[in-house]
Amino acid sequence: MSAEILEERRLSIQRKGGGCGGDGMRCDAASVAGAVSQRACVYCGARVVLNPITDAFHIVHGPIGCASYTWDIRGSLTSGSELFRNSFSTDLQEKDIVFGGAVKLTAAIDEVMQQYAPKLIFVYATCIVGVIGDDVEAVCRDAEKKYGIRVIAVKAPGFSGTKSTGYRMACNALMQLLTPHADQPKAVGVNILGDYNLAGEMWIIKNYLRDMGIPVVATFTGDASYDTLIKAPTAQLNIVQCAGSMMYLAHRMEDAFGIPWMKASFFGVEDTSTALRQVAEHLHDSQAKERAEAIIAKRAPVAEEFLQRYKAHFIGKKAAIFVGGGFKAISLIRQFNEMGIETVVVGTQTGKEEDYEIISSLVNPGTIILDDANPAELETFMKEKGADILVGGVKERPLAYKLGIAFCDHNHERKHALGGFEGVENFTREVNLSLNSPVWQQVRTGASYHLRAQAPAKQVPRLLGHRSKRVGA
Ligand code: SF4
Repeated sequence: MSAEILEERRLSIQRKGGGCGGDGMRCDAASVAGAVSQRACVYCGARVVLNPITDAFHIVHGPIGCASYTWDIRGSLTSGSELFRNSFSTDLQEKDIVFGGAVKLTAAIDEVMQQYAPKLIFVYATCIVGVIGDDVEAVCRDAEKKYGIRVIAVKAPGFSGTKSTGYRMACNALMQLLTPHADQPKAVGVNILGDYNLAGEMWIIKNYLRDMGIPVVATFTGDASYDTLIKAPTAQLNIVQCAGSMMYLAHRMEDAFGIPWMKASFFGVEDTSTALRQVAEHLHDSQAKERAEAIIAKRAPVAEEFLQRYKAHFIGKKAAIFVGGGFKAISLIRQFNEMGIETVVVGTQTGKEEDYEIISSLVNPGTIILDDANPAELETFMKEKGADILVGGVKERPLAYKLGIAFCDHNHERKHALGGFEGVENFTREVNLSLNSPVWQQVRTGASYHLRAQAPAKQVPRLLGHRSKRVGA
């Protein structure tokens, strides 16, 4: 193994078909101290899940630094309220840490109620609150009594686990919201879990389901609102897209409300087609099945034809993937396979053992598979494997640019929807634009990236076409 790799990290890195690490992937565990993990903290994990609720208010109880994690870097789209774009902090100072911050938190809730009067407030307990032991739950209970709204504590000190712990804390908060509404008559329709409507994907999925005649009761949490969320216990089925963040909620809703669940991916032609068919099958709805086939027959060939036009530009290209969850990584490998691009490095922040088993079954021998990677590891293996493009999020972008590697944001900074058949076109176009940009030749000339021996890149004509269309809510 390379000198850049810490000894303690060996078991979280595998080379398919003969390995750096052992037989099983070490994953779903605390980060190695000092390894400079790319992973977000517990609080950030909770915020990812809850922030897209459009009419909720978020109070970050902690130092101002934690509050930098706002809509501006974790944006998602709304068809209604814009309240969620605000973020408030109690800005804890030394004095509060010595004498306690509960009084300041109460004052913050009072101020929010006077100025905005939301129906729902989430209060996040951050690292320092976990250390000094403010009774955040008691403050929230008092505020609920005083104002008659929901004020829910999210116990998410950054040090208290991994990003996955934050997902669970957020799901616990959602269950606190839903449980009082358990006894409602059942409705016809489904909940969508684990899509955050980062660039309108939730609207794409909802449009497909509408065309199949399937009502959507509630969405978790992309474009969600308080009024839609509390109807969630009435749904017939939970469709879980981002399994890493939402399987825990799906299990809890099954136990509490008797709602069955299914996993679905709406990334890529193959996954989207399969998802639509499986939703109809789970509902035992033959009419919906026929309508799903009609959607697939109309949309899949168009997306595939679009992809074919670009394939010549992807010949010989190699991709690296580093994303939050295993399910997204699996979808991306499949999508790159459809595009004729080989995935040579793939990793996640919160993947589980079963995710890594599927990942391993999808990639070629020699592919590097990593859990909870750090920048040095990503750099080492992207150089070794000659990756041409990195797909990741906001924290991976600078690394790719510094190495002179193309980059595609598959997280909150993306501007075009990457889900559904529409997403296939947007993703293909975006990957082509970045991958074949002449700028990388210029950057790499002065960078440390070791280019593989290759003929000078041919200028690839741009297949720009139209910009992606905004999908209506
Ligand atoms: S690790 Fe702690 S201090 Fe840092 S952002 Fe997370 S909660 Fe805040």
